[in-house]
Amino acid sequence: MTDTPVEDLTEQEARKELIRLALEIRHHDDRYHKEDAPEISDAAYDALRRRNEAIEARFPDLIRPDSPSLRVGGGLKSGFSKIQHKKPMLSLGNAFSDEDVAEFVTRVRRFLNLSDSEEVAILAEPKIDGLSASLRYEKGKLIYAATRGDGSEGEDVTANMRTLEDVPTEITAADVPDVLEVRGEVYMRKDDFFALNKRQEEAGAKTFANPRNAAAGSLRQLDPTITKQRPLRFFGYAWGDLSEPLADTQAHARAKLESFGFTLNHPTALCRSLEEVLAHYRMIEQQRADLPFDIDGVVYKVDRLDWQERLGQVSRAPRWAIAHKFPAEKAETVIEEITVQVGRTGALTPVANLKPVTVGGVVVSRATLHNEDEINRLGVKPGDTVRIQRAGDVIPQVLEVTIDGGGTPFDFPHACPVCGSDVERDEGEVVWRCTGGLICAAQAVERLKHFVSRDAFDIEGLGTKSIEEFWEDGLIRQPADIFALSQQRDKILGKEGWKEKSVGNLLSAIEDRRNIPLDRFIYALGIRHIGQTTAKLLARSFGNYRDWREKMTLVSEERHANPDEHKKPELIGPHYADLVGIDTVGMTAADSLAAFFGEAHNRDVLDALDSVLTVTDVAAPSASGSPVAGKTVVFTGTLEKMGRSEAKARAESLGAKVSGSVSKKTDYVIVGADAGSKARKAQELGVTMLSEDDWLALIEGTQDAPTPPADTDGGSAQGTLI
Ligand code: AMP
Repeated sequence: MTDTPVEDLTEQEARKELIRLALEIRHHDDRYHKEDAPEISDAAYDALRRRNEAIEARFPDLIRPDSPSLRVGGGLKSGFSKIQHKKPMLSLGNAFSDEDVAEFVTRVRRFLNLSDSEEVAILAEPKIDGLSASLRYEKGKLIYAATRGDGSEGEDVTANMRTLEDVPTEITAADVPDVLEVRGEVYMRKDDFFALNKRQEEAGAKTFANPRNAAAGSLRQLDPTITKQRPLRFFGYAWGDLSEPLADTQAHARAKLESFGFTLNHPTALCRSLEEVLAHYRMIEQQRADLPFDIDGVVYKVDRLDWQERLGQVSRAPRWAIAHKFPAEKAETVIEEITVQVGRTGALTPVANLKPVTVGGVVVSRATLHNEDEINRLGVKPGDTVRIQRAGDVIPQVLEVTIDGGGTPFDFPHACPVCGSDVERDEGEVVWRCTGGLICAAQAVERLKHFVSRDAFDIEGLGTKSIEEFWEDGLIRQPADIFALSQQRDKILGKEGWKEKSVGNLLSAIEDRRNIPLDRFIYALGIRHIGQTTAKLLARSFGNYRDWREKMTLVSEERHANPDEHKKPELIGPHYADLVGIDTVGMTAADSLAAFFGEAHNRDVLDALDSVLTVTDVAAPSASGSPVAGKTVVFTGTLEKMGRSEAKARAESLGAKVSGSVSKKTDYVIVGADAGSKARKAQELGVTMLSEDDWLALIEGTQDAPTPPADTDGGSAQGTLI
């Protein structure tokens, strides 16, 4: 058990601690029930359980299927089984200002290449603050219900969802599609929430912080009879897998869902201009307090479904929708101390340690001050009273000083507070970084924590705390050491808190990760600017570890030979340009990869991992049957039917690799109006060139794949289609 107060735990820490508590409590249960040989006092055991409960009350989404709180009569009920979503359940991009919304509309127009006179109708609907669920119906019968989970895989909550009155178990309408996945939000009305909390309090049971937590905690009950007693409701306003389209517009599709028996979220408006959209937002904002359910913003959706289809998605959010969030909640409190944290990439982040205060139902005791410039801008000192704000899941921020506490200004450290190395900041950057690299314990430890984190290697039982301890004992100094821990069994057993069983669990969790998909592997390396989305893109684009590593080495060499070029990737080198050509990989990410591969110690880390792991291949997005799957294509010139981003996105969704430069490996060059050097190069190399119409015909399947030109003798454009 860590000493961190529950209200200070980050989600990540809470997740890890719940795993540890589940293991630990199970261990003590076994000692007590099965072996009649308890190791700890009842009071100590109760403390473990209470902490587990307190963490779960604060993070109901994190309740584990093997949680001790779900234990029934000494034995553990099996957890929720998993359901793979047929179509991913997406998140939404956020807009925080009118400008963000205007930009969204502009982006949509640009992507679809619309003329100024063409109207984009947008359906605005309230964003319900609950948790999303997907219901699958086949021939009108409810087959299963799942939570969103990680978007591709959720938990099977069928039995629980069946207890909701808003969820039809059978749809009798004659026009219901054979396959219908209805998606929407499970929520609790405000009045029901207050009444539930009152009942809980009277019964001495735990109360919930807000309706969202209450809804999550009530749905994720292993015993559906408990869910049935909870006043849960469901709005069904969206859909996933379908055997036939529901309608031609969002508004009509909603009406269809209503006719099938689902309740819809209101008030909505079909807006014809940005002004109408924003007016509706203001109206909903005014009604917010009076609505019977909690909302945290307004969602705007492009009404035409054919346009939604064309717009598709980028990383985990659709391009055709956005959530316009309400302004953040604010509160005032005192800064007790300012400390500086050193992160994985060496960034020094000042943190305000606050007198705990409640903001929007959550106790906050720390807020980020971002960087030295921000401290100066705010003029903030320890002892000052400040106004802070918290928006959604975002880390609380300090907005302004409201009362000067008369303390001394904070002296930003000129050396790393952890390893003492020099700190530096790049030109134009606001963040100071420790130059210690891996000799800085903070950086090394943070990298290791990232390496084992949920979206990376996801090693159960190896939490933040154990990484810190193992680091201190010298058991783990670099990622590959994790895979040699089995040779350190005795040493681990000698440490406090480790028993045969927990060590066994840890070692088997590690063994389970010896095969790791390329995207997780890349993400786990913790390279600056390479988040999960970019890691996935890279993995899909290169497919296998060897190719990726080889290419990154070339990219790094090209970059080091041309350090001063900051605008044109082609001038740096062909491999570099190709990398930047991959969907949203820009020069910042490419430079970061180049820098990573340019450092000998990083290559050593990779070599060491090479010898203990198998990195498995990642397939390009499923595009079976696509005529362009696996092909490398280059777009050049101005396209007429769609914007460049749509063309790129569509090609990629069909499994093609879109490159920024033409080489011998290019399969097709799609030539728009006023094409320049790339078209010439394609001609020189004898690469197949297609007009925009040819390309569309090809991907829409009305034309066979063109045969590549016969061996060209230099300049012939023989075999090209234009
Ligand atoms: P986020 O919480 O940022 O991932 O936002 C996406 C989530 O908003 C979806 O998964 C839905 O659960 C939720 N949501 C609530 N109301 C709506 C709505 N009217 N349209 C779409 N999504 C909604």
